[in-house]
Amino acid sequence: MIQLSQVSRSFTVGDQQIAALRDIDLNIAAGDYVSIMGPSGSGKSTLLNLIGLLDRPSSGTYKLDGGDVTALDDAQQAKVRSEKIGFVFQSFHLVPRLTAAMNIELPLMLAGIPPAERKARVAALLDNYGLTDRADHRPDQLSGGQRQRVAIARATSMHPAVLLADEPTGNLDQATGKEVINLLEKLLEQKVALIMVTHDPVIGGRAQRQLHMVDGRITNEQR
Ligand code: ADP
Ligand code: MG
Repeated sequence: MIQLSQVSRSFTVGDQQIAALRDIDLNIAAGDYVSIMGPSGSGKSTLLNLIGLLDRPSSGTYKLDGGDVTALDDAQQAKVRSEKIGFVFQSFHLVPRLTAAMNIELPLMLAGIPPAERKARVAALLDNYGLTDRADHRPDQLSGGQRQRVAIARATSMHPAVLLADEPTGNLDQATGKEVINLLEKLLEQKVALIMVTHDPVIGGRAQRQLHMVDGRITNEQR
């Protein structure tokens, strides 16, 4: 489903070139469970952002479901992202002034889903993630675990084929982190590809495919 070949990404800062990713070759299939580990600055987030179409490679090709997505313009990429990709971040990235229900509804609105269907899907997601009694709460009225559940509900509202999570338990205590991991792993039953960056070797060790990155390269894959 995801095919990266010879993907590199460099950033120019002042007169310095920073090679964040170097010659990445990576194939990920539907239902794959992949963890990405490695030291800070090794390129984990850059790789996730590229897969999530939040960034573009400097060179190399990225095919998603067989189509070269690097050739798409920004609007076309946004459409693909909306239809196929969900993102969960360490710091939740919820819209502060919107309620839990409205945060979950946002991608559905942007995708033009009709109101009746939106309401039904939001209600089902709130129920599924144990948030029904928090529907009208804003993020600052929710615990960290509840915020991340809202973020997962939002990320899955469009039934993505790929769920990308960048240190999703980084701001949570261990017990709450475990709950969040369980919720993410449940998506594997629906053949969602789950790709997760983590610092925690116990969490990373749960994945069927464990990628290790150093200095912009995938140096090792354990299965
Ligand atoms: P990780 O997530 O593994 O900690 P990142 O992917 O965030 O690492 O960063 C990899 C390298 O690329 C680092 O050296 C970082 O400083 C650099 N980098 C990432 N994003 C940018 C950016 N937008 N501009 C300049 N340098 C960046
Ligand atoms: Mg990072």
